[in-house]
Amino acid sequence: MSTCCDMPLPGTRPMLSMDEALARILAQARPVAGQENVSLLDALNRVLASAQVSAIDVPGADNSAMDGYALRTTDLPASGEASLPVSQRIPAGQVAQPLQAGTAARIFTGAPVPAGADTVIIQEVCREEDGVVRFPVPVKAGANIRRAGEDIRKGREVLAAGTRLTPQALGLAASVGLGSLPVFRRLQVAVLSTGDELVEPGMPLAHSGQIYNSNRYTLISLLRRLDCEVIDLGRVRDDYGETCAVLDRAAGQADLILSTGGVSVGEEDHVKSALEARGRLDLWRIAIKPGKPLAFGQIGEAFFIGLPGNPVSSFVTFQLFVKPFIAACQGERQTAQPAFAVAAAFDWPKPDKRREFLRARLEPGDDGQIRVGIYPSQSSGVLSSTVWADGLVDVAPNQVIRAGDAVTFLPFKGLLP
Ligand code: AMP
Ligand code: MG
Repeated sequence: MSTCCDMPLPGTRPMLSMDEALARILAQARPVAGQENVSLLDALNRVLASAQVSAIDVPGADNSAMDGYALRTTDLPASGEASLPVSQRIPAGQVAQPLQAGTAARIFTGAPVPAGADTVIIQEVCREEDGVVRFPVPVKAGANIRRAGEDIRKGREVLAAGTRLTPQALGLAASVGLGSLPVFRRLQVAVLSTGDELVEPGMPLAHSGQIYNSNRYTLISLLRRLDCEVIDLGRVRDDYGETCAVLDRAAGQADLILSTGGVSVGEEDHVKSALEARGRLDLWRIAIKPGKPLAFGQIGEAFFIGLPGNPVSSFVTFQLFVKPFIAACQGERQTAQPAFAVAAAFDWPKPDKRREFLRARLEPGDDGQIRVGIYPSQSSGVLSSTVWADGLVDVAPNQVIRAGDAVTFLPFKGLLP
């Protein structure tokens, strides 16, 4: 095949590789200015603005990992059966007395180990009768005790600045006693869908030239999952004046304006000219499939990203470009997309010369090994593929794939929180 199609047309720019386009976008990203303190339960999915250090050891004291008896191993005979009087009972939440020599303490999981005891014997191997506990010896010194500071030492950083706060991170913050966390303010993202043909779901289609606006619902939902505050600007007609007015309004409120459609160079595509008139626009042809055109620019203080109108293309380009850009603007430290190698359950004999992202999903084979399969139609007109899939297979330009080859899989779950 000739490479004529990758040659720039007169007046257009050459194709960018995906990596180059992503690097250009990320180079412009800056974390939002502004932080707030929120209670732990309001901090889920937010991005931590400053590192958090523990003011305490966790656990705060040596404590029992099991229900059983705490004792001193030097009080025990070398073999046979030991018997010790039980001198105290220590449930979780109580303060222990020092262990009297030659005795055992009844102890429960999480209760502090009394001073002097050096091991805990699990209750399953003990018999207690008339205040005396019997069990076989020898026993191992140090068993079943969780040591003070074993999880976290006082003064240690428990959460780094730029951490996306997962349920586990909130649990960890709680475990060191933090009641609230400083987080970056929410990113305001305005969303608009361009196209005269678009009708809102729930309304009837008046004629065969109309279609339902699906991008609005996909994009707003993706943004909500990323914990953005969405400014929903609805549908914008293919009209230069209306496009300018909406963009001006959005620029006054949003950190980022996200649009779909209208970024081609057809005469019904007004986003490009409106942006050029109102701000600054780079329009890139990116050598990926699906999703060739991508617009990136700025109006006033707001960034602008124009995604393709095609619903599959806009979904895929959101995953590849918008998600990492938003993460960086939210202050997240880690913006790289997770990816891993997995065996292909499919053949891909006729690769494209562009890098391709196939709608794919992980499936166990007959041998129980996980493989990745692809949706039967990879046409960019088939939105069903995005629901069937749980990720994308990243196919290099001209990469022929045979079943069993290792391929790169990008899980949607990793791309989204
Ligand atoms: P455009 O980039 O505006 O030329 O749109 C490319 C294709 O995507 C056209 O077939 C549009 O009808 C379709 N399209 C654009 N916007 C949407 C949308 N919001 N929902 C569903 N399809 C759309
Ligand atoms: Mg259009």
